[in-house]
Amino acid sequence: MNDSASTAVPALDFRDVVKEFGDNRVLDELDFSIARGETVSLIGPSGSGKTTVLRMAMQLESVTSGSLKILGEELPTEAEGKLKPGVASRPDLARRCGMVFQQYNLFPHMNVLANLTLSPQSVLKMSRDEAVEASRRYLALVGLSDKEDAYPRQLSGGQQQRIAIARALVMRPEILLLDEITSALDPELVGEVLDVVKNLASETDITILTVTHEMRFARDVSDRVAMFSGGKVVEFADPSIIFEAPTHPRTRSFLNSVL
Ligand code: ADP
Repeated sequence: MNDSASTAVPALDFRDVVKEFGDNRVLDELDFSIARGETVSLIGPSGSGKTTVLRMAMQLESVTSGSLKILGEELPTEAEGKLKPGVASRPDLARRCGMVFQQYNLFPHMNVLANLTLSPQSVLKMSRDEAVEASRRYLALVGLSDKEDAYPRQLSGGQQQRIAIARALVMRPEILLLDEITSALDPELVGEVLDVVKNLASETDITILTVTHEMRFARDVSDRVAMFSGGKVVEFADPSIIFEAPTHPRTRSFLNSVL
């Protein structure tokens, strides 16, 4: 975390945030904030609402009620009735966030460099030269400078996921949302992807929010860890507390079941 993070406007600020899908309340009065530059892991059982939090931050889901501020600016809620399904209500803020999914979704018919340079040119209006330069910088950061001419099918799953991370970074997000990015990988490929994220967390000021089942990674990379259960955050603390001296029984039982 950088020195100014504790005093600056939070990256994400959830106040009494509720999310309902029909009658199903999947997030129940979330109340926490994440400072700029922080790395936070969301852990907890399947179905507890972790991915929905990332999707709300990315404006892929709307807020039913409560207040969600992204980089100091409030998103409209469903209660205000102005939202179009599937359309970001604040595209300017959505652009300041980047998301990487379990499935890497690279364009199969484009080589790596074309995959990376597409959005910076079309969305950020970079010149081709600028987009290529930025793409090469992030390819180097994920350790794949030698793959710019390769097509996705020629790469391992771990390499494709590292390219997907570079593709998100080239859009210069201030907040990076990582949704179970190693879940589709063979176990031997998980480490190389997590190393890239560890490097990002320690070397950059980017705010990282990650949903992960890799508990050792969560312990190593996170400034704080949020334990979800039944749509609530039951414990939000330093990794040393969560993993060595959890105070909530749900944290203890969850960790006993996965470690
Ligand atoms: P987690 O990431 O912790 O596994 P999710 O955020 O994916 O949990 O899901 C939380 C709950 O919300 C689950 O019960 C899931 O079925 C429900 N849910 C998620 N997305 C939708 C949706 N688009 N429509 C209806 N229910 C959904």
